[in-house]
Amino acid sequence: MKKRFTLFLTIITLMTTSLRAQSDMDMNALLSQINADSLLQTVMDLQNFGSRFALREGGNIEVAEYLVERLHRYNVSAVIDSFHQDGYNWLGGYYDQWFYNVKGILPSANPVDDSIVIVGAHLDAISYDHSTFSLQTLAPGADDNASGVAVMIELARICHANQLQFNRDIHFMAYDGEELGLFGSYYDAEARLNADDKVKLMINNDMVSFQPDNDWRLTLHWYSNAMDPLHRAAELCAQYTDIEPYIPDVADNTDAAYSDSYAYYRNGFPAVFAIEYTFSTSYHTDHDVADSNNYAYHADVARYNMALLADYALLSNGTGVEEHVTATSMCLSPNPANDRAVLLYQNEEGAIASISVYDMAGRLVLRQDEQGDISGTHRTELNLSHLPSGFYICRLQTPSRVETVKFVRE
Ligand SMILES: [Zn+2]
Repeated sequence: MKKRFTLFLTIITLMTTSLRAQSDMDMNALLSQINADSLLQTVMDLQNFGSRFALREGGNIEVAEYLVERLHRYNVSAVIDSFHQDGYNWLGGYYDQWFYNVKGILPSANPVDDSIVIVGAHLDAISYDHSTFSLQTLAPGADDNASGVAVMIELARICHANQLQFNRDIHFMAYDGEELGLFGSYYDAEARLNADDKVKLMINNDMVSFQPDNDWRLTLHWYSNAMDPLHRAAELCAQYTDIEPYIPDVADNTDAAYSDSYAYYRNGFPAVFAIEYTFSTSYHTDHDVADSNNYAYHADVARYNMALLADYALLSNGTGVEEHVTATSMCLSPNPANDRAVLLYQNEEGAIASISVYDMAGRLVLRQDEQGDISGTHRTELNLSHLPSGFYICRLQTPSRVETVKFVRE
């Protein structure tokens, strides 16, 4: 467990409940700047390459150059990180090709540690006739996955426009060759493993712009080494967007292996993977065009991303920074619990601790604020009688830390 005392924590110490509400308002003000038109513009730009199929003549170098230029515009130092690969593709043809990842770095203002947060999406596309399996000339990939890349670019734009400062480095990544077998993300994740990089979280978006207007849901695929970030992601999505987060059960989570975050998971790094709940019908065809997307929904997905990025990269401009402590000093008993449970925790003198309980979809189901009259161990009783049986997360926030504990309501 790492203790941190930054300037920001000093500010938090002075916070009252009303100031905390103010802090949430700041985050909402920031998120309101996320713009559907600017997402659409990036999707159009990417679609206008005609095809982003990684094995076409010359590969995706021009796409990568465009993304480097976009990131430079937002003062992110970006480079093309190319790699070579050969083999047989899914149609049996032999290839011998260069692939082009884009890597953009936004350094932290005040590093708390040497870990980084990655926001990534694949830049390549594929389209084929689903009855004959023959490749189509155009691979617009507007939803798959210009939408994910557009989120990454929009976050860079928002960071720059607000001169946001973080306490962890952020890497904005675009991956080539995903459709052929996660080539770009394996290349990057393996390089990071060899370089002993510390990845706090990899945030992946793959197909996040197609959704009917009457059903805004977002699937959050999960990896067994990253359950805390998953629940935090669901919580932030529920808190800051109109989208209902959906966490699939094991049987429904198999698609977790079919996008770039899987390469990070396989190399031991924590990741979350967001994908539209209602799968696009033009998936992997030349009908996957910008017109079919829902940019209001897309903008809300970008808001979920910004909130998650702020949380894990420790945004220090006063919009709700928190450090997550996995080792916990609080204790909830009994667990499994019935109508009542007792929570024991440490609090600072005079401080307000807020206790929140969330269900597995990230919905807030109970909230209790407690004044810490004396420092030391506090005991509080939680009334769980109104909760249906199932898994829950109890979250404690004090001026200096956030702790969570999972429990079962019988
Ligand atoms: Zn994809």
